[in-house]
Amino acid sequence: MTTREFLECDLVVLGGGMAGMTAAARAAGRGAKVVVVEKAADIGGSAALSGGYLWTATSLAQMNLHDDGDPRLHAVIIEEYPEVLAWMRARGIAMRPPQKVLYGRGCQIDMQDHLRKASSEVEAVGGIVVRGTETREIICEKGRVAGVVTTHPDGETELRAASVLIATGGFQGDPELRARHIHPAARVMGLRSNLTSSGAGLSLGIAAGGAWAGPNSGYYGHLVATPVPFRTDSDFVKYTQYHSIHGVLLNRAGRRFVDESDDDHASSQLTLRQPGASALLVWDQRVQDDHAVVPPVAGAEPLDRFQIAIGAGARGGKAATLAEIAGIADRLGFDGAACVAGLGAFNRQMSAEPERAVPPRETHDRALDRAPYYVLEVVSAITFTFGGLLADAKARVLDPFGEPIGGLYVAGADVGNVFRRGYAGGLALASTFAFRAMRTAGF
Ligand SMILES: Cc1cc2nc3c(=O)[nH]c(=O)nc-3n(C[C@H](O)[C@H](O)[C@H](O)COP(=O)(O)OP(=O)(O)OC[C@H]3O[C@@H](n4cnc5c(N)ncnc54)[C@H](O)[C@@H]3O)c2cc1C
Repeated sequence: MTTREFLECDLVVLGGGMAGMTAAARAAGRGAKVVVVEKAADIGGSAALSGGYLWTATSLAQMNLHDDGDPRLHAVIIEEYPEVLAWMRARGIAMRPPQKVLYGRGCQIDMQDHLRKASSEVEAVGGIVVRGTETREIICEKGRVAGVVTTHPDGETELRAASVLIATGGFQGDPELRARHIHPAARVMGLRSNLTSSGAGLSLGIAAGGAWAGPNSGYYGHLVATPVPFRTDSDFVKYTQYHSIHGVLLNRAGRRFVDESDDDHASSQLTLRQPGASALLVWDQRVQDDHAVVPPVAGAEPLDRFQIAIGAGARGGKAATLAEIAGIADRLGFDGAACVAGLGAFNRQMSAEPERAVPPRETHDRALDRAPYYVLEVVSAITFTFGGLLADAKARVLDPFGEPIGGLYVAGADVGNVFRRGYAGGLALASTFAFRAMRTAGF
């Protein structure tokens, strides 16, 4: 017989990553008794793997320009971001001074410090952080949430609470959900994320009456060398080809298919949709010296990403001349002659008429003409999904009619349609929605 124990608290948080631990600590700081339910053996999720750059766009207009997600949800990030940073500082979280990150601005925080302190803050006022625990159900009574039922080897626990926050980090860990919502090729893509975010929060939210926010095949990801399986946490960053914005991406037919200079994350999404779900990334010695071995953001480690990838068995090679690229491309299953022709056309356009390039090349519009050439086959690896639960700007989960479900909130990658194609910071998305949810819940 399954035994069931009962526990009362003010707030249950599902997921102990960036959104969950931020919300839990924020509520605990206001005296709330919080129970965090984490499925993995430890808290942290993708936040614990991250570089800790807590950044976002510098204005709503800038965010709207870079991403076509829901502008009302964009506004939550912009409005709460200064509050989150001030709170991090007030708690003494170690952080570096503000710096430029991608097109926005932010601070690199000591993530372990934040997660550790958040956990202590929850426990200091009688809360609990439970690990290795699944949630079977969100309990609804009289049209609003009343708690959750968790399962563990010793039985079940009914956690009674008037507020529940869903913060399980998206569905990138589930191949079938990726194939259904992103693209059939996404079924076998690389997972550049924690391994536990598999859409559980989304199905729990929908079972509790919440709605899916609608179609959204977008995701945050990067181009990585292939086939180099991620074995350790540091591999995520080592195999990421951030400098692709300075190179040229060619599909199997030798054609460019994206403005590479837009950003690596955007190129990654389009690479997934190319034949064979991969592309050839080519750069020259100038790009190698000025960008490939230079940290993509101040504070990150300088790495020779080409050497590291090739050393780990990645598909690619170095060519002494542009023409030599044909042999490497043919060997990798690309049309070598077409690739060389495509690169030649790109170089001529960049030298003479960059404005005629199709697809366009908005920035970094220089020919690749300093031998040798570096060639890597790259694939898209996913960090978190953009589709998720329908929510309003108060971080409340909405039903299919757009009505809030009393006491049910969502934060982080589980919030649907904040982003679509662009991206303005995963840690900022998580922590600002955590703040907004706690504000709405009265903590
Ligand atoms: C290598 C790498 C580098 C990154 N660098 C940056 C960076 O510098 N800046 C930035 O902004 N973003 C970065 N990110 C992205 C960022 O880490 C995520 O966007 C962010 O952590 C998402 O927050 P979240 O709370 O939604 O999910 P997570 O932080 O992943 O937390 C989700 C948590 O929910 C748990 N969970 C899943 N299912 C359940 C369940 N059923 N019940 C209970 N718990 C569950 C998971 O185990 C996890 O602990 C990086 C990510 C990676 C992988």
